Amino acid sequence: MSQFKAPDFYQLDDLFSEEERMVRDSVREWVDAEFMPIIEEHNRAGTFPMALVPQLGELGVLGASLQGYGCAGLSPVAYGLILQELERGDSGLRSFVSVQGSLCMYPIHAYGTDEQKEKWLPGMAKGELIGCFGLTEADFGSNPGGMLARLEDRGDHYVLNGSKYWITNGGIADLAIVSAKLDGEVRLIVVERGTPGYTTNTIKNKFSLRASVTSELIFSDAVVPKQNLLPGVTGLKGPLSCLNQARFGIAFGAVGAAMAVYDEALRYSKNRIMFERPIAGYQLVQNKLVWMVNEITKGQLLAWRLGRLKEQGRLHHTQVSLAKRNNCWMALECCRLARDILGANGITDEYQTMRHMCNLESVITYEGTHDIHGLIIGRQITGLDAIT
Ligand SMILES: Cc1cc2nc3c(=O)[nH]c(=O)nc-3n(C[C@H](O)[C@H](O)[C@H](O)COP(=O)(O)OP(=O)(O)OC[C@H]3O[C@@H](n4cnc5c(N)ncnc54)[C@H](O)[C@@H]3O)c2cc1C
Repeated sequence: MSQFKAPDFYQLDDLFSEEERMVRDSVREWVDAEFMPIIEEHNRAGTFPMALVPQLGELGVLGASLQGYGCAGLSPVAYGLILQELERGDSGLRSFVSVQGSLCMYPIHAYGTDEQKEKWLPGMAKGELIGCFGLTEADFGSNPGGMLARLEDRGDHYVLNGSKYWITNGGIADLAIVSAKLDGEVRLIVVERGTPGYTTNTIKNKFSLRASVTSELIFSDAVVPKQNLLPGVTGLKGPLSCLNQARFGIAFGAVGAAMAVYDEALRYSKNRIMFERPIAGYQLVQNKLVWMVNEITKGQLLAWRLGRLKEQGRLHHTQVSLAKRNNCWMALECCRLARDILGANGITDEYQTMRHMCNLESVITYEGTHDIHGLIIGRQITGLDAIT
């Protein structure tokens, strides 16, 4: 039985529909029962728990906000709460689900032909087909528009050359949604495993997101059928619209990681006796716990509002930037405070705080770094671009 008690200082439960609470609670129970008992062992080994993928499909969390093709068609808030609960387990688990749903299924759903949707989406919703999203290149992270990957039209097929780096799920993916330039314009194309000229390498020795596969994708005269190009979008808008979906989920997910470490630190501080009293009774420790619950509450409200704006079709991408930026920062700060409260015990993997802290160093970097999101917000409020 998990001891986890989710902080809800502002009675946010009242703001969620019955369906949203039900979805959240069923994922919470699944994480407790199936994921928590095995995460530390996977984190140590640096492996993703592949055996759980069919269960994720059965739970209905893969592409959960999409309509049709075997997807659950849930509200944005329900989808966000799923990601919150998954990241309460581990950012690697949430990353798997975000990449599958927001970065791979979403573009096929939004920009693909009926044939492409029928071919890939039902299998992806079940977890029978795994996707990865190749945008970043080793020399083009924050500036993806400078990418070198190129598609060449060879009459009845395309030839793809280039490489992608830091790609979540890369080595385990059945298909990659790759961004590459065709006649100078960024396009999204599906490259299936087994395509001649397409290989992957695993990026090893990570301190962060250890229970997640991160890879390099290499395309060397890879022959890709023409019918794999997603016809509905041209330009950087394609990949950026996918990132917007994923960042939305991260805003919720980071709250989950913060909730996990707050809960751990609170429980620990009540039980840890120093100078003959529980450390929770000392003002400095309380100050840290109060900072955490204060910021978690604000993060929860930001995420909830983000979800409702999305539901109403009123969401602006800079609002997503603000929530992603704030909640990743907040969660990382919570980890640092929680680790401090745990004392020496906090540096071992008997406790989850350090694992979450290391993970969040990736989460605050990927899908747009903390500073890049700051500059996106800065551009919005001043009308002046400080990025380029
Ligand atoms: C574990 C992990 C998984 C990932 N998964 C994926 C994936 O599935 N698919 C994918 O495509 N990518 C993925 N990424 C890549 C990720 O999106 C990039 O790492 C991220 O965009 C940052 O790029 P970079 O690492 O090249 O940093 P850089 O762009 O080199 O930035 C380095 C520093 O410079 C700062 N900086 C850069 N430009 C500016 C500027 N104009 N003004 C001020 N500061 C600036 C940044 O804020 C940062 O602090 C993943 C990364 C990690 C770590």
